[in-house]
Amino acid sequence: MGENYAFFLPVMMASFGVVFLIVWGWHVRAAGWWSAAFFCIAAGFSAPAGFAAIPTPLWSIIADLLFATGFLLFSQALLQRWRPSWLLPVRLSIWGGSLLLCVIANIVDNLPLELVASDFGCFLLIALPLIAAKGHLRGGADRALFAAACLVALDNLVRGSTVPLTLSAGSDFLTSNYAYLMQALACIFGLFLALSALATQVIVLLGRYQREAMIDPLSGLFNRRGFDDAVARIEAEGGHGGSLIVCDIDHFKAVNDEYGHALGDSVISALSQLIIAAAPPGAIAARFGGEEFVLFLPGTNAARAAEVANDLRESFTRTVAVTLQLAHVLTASFGLSTVQRSDRSIHDAIARADEALYEAKSRGRNRVCVRRALSSPAAEPVFPQRIVSA
Ligand code: GH3
Ligand code: MG
Ligand code: MG
Repeated sequence: MGENYAFFLPVMMASFGVVFLIVWGWHVRAAGWWSAAFFCIAAGFSAPAGFAAIPTPLWSIIADLLFATGFLLFSQALLQRWRPSWLLPVRLSIWGGSLLLCVIANIVDNLPLELVASDFGCFLLIALPLIAAKGHLRGGADRALFAAACLVALDNLVRGSTVPLTLSAGSDFLTSNYAYLMQALACIFGLFLALSALATQVIVLLGRYQREAMIDPLSGLFNRRGFDDAVARIEAEGGHGGSLIVCDIDHFKAVNDEYGHALGDSVISALSQLIIAAAPPGAIAARFGGEEFVLFLPGTNAARAAEVANDLRESFTRTVAVTLQLAHVLTASFGLSTVQRSDRSIHDAIARADEALYEAKSRGRNRVCVRRALSSPAAEPVFPQRIVSA
């Protein structure tokens, strides 16, 4: 029975190593530690095969080294998620201390001491991250990973504490109850640990792709989908009301035509930075495409939103052309509206702000216009045009 496990375990652990290596290729940092850890453990479980080929007591020291290193890497992989590099010198000392004891036990031919030193070293290495995890667990996958690591830690602690019971005097290590228990439990807990770690990596990947799907790469602001999602979250938390600013750069096509598309991109990027700087806490800023931006200010009235829009208008006109060393003044127009109780969604308010923006354009650009409700006869200019030289 034990021999069957002995064959199965290295293959299983190495397979986990390969899976995490693939995930690591998708730039998930912790997966690299998991992969290295499982390869180490796979190599550790292969030591009996090495012993069968070349019989030397060195194999048990090599196995000790591989298990201790595997557990050091497990601790690094767990901490990568919860608290990277936490107590690294302490963990390295545990690794070195347990290995030293293993070597001494091996030299004096004391197998029980060697097993206890190895098991307690592994226990401490995987138990430390569990302390660090306090307050850092996020969601079911994290809790499953925590539970799996607890089981692996407990397995090492109990196995190390019961060596005299499971290793009968004079018996061969591979045929001992100790070896059988170690292999059987490593199989079960190793599978649980690998699957829960994989679940956390999948969540990391999904989160990354979800964020990328919601962020506009040029501006760093939300795109339409991200904006809708962020607004929906505010609404789900019970927030309602607020003001909406839409912004469109004036004569932007001419900027592209005269200075090139790359410079046009720099203008979009510069305005995005100004929007981020001007946005009060809790505001949601998005680029809806081209050179059109939307800023939602939850719980903010029209007067305050108009101040934000006008500050933005002034800082854009004052700084961007100068920073990018353009010969012409750059301006932008703004439309503003407030969310009404009768609105079916935020897009009703955006539609009104768009009408106000259209009004700002038709009145000569470089201004802020406001439209409170769709029934308003026309948008009102709240900040007149100001000519600012670049
Ligand atoms: P108006 O004052 O009426 O807003 O005039 P405009 O020229 O700014 O308006 P229009 O919407 O006609 O032109 C927008 C231009 O924005 C057209 C397009 O070439 C350019 N554009 C759209 N997306 C991008 C982008 O990602 N980068 C750059 N550089 N230009 C873009
Ligand atoms: Mg424009
Ligand atoms: Mg436009």
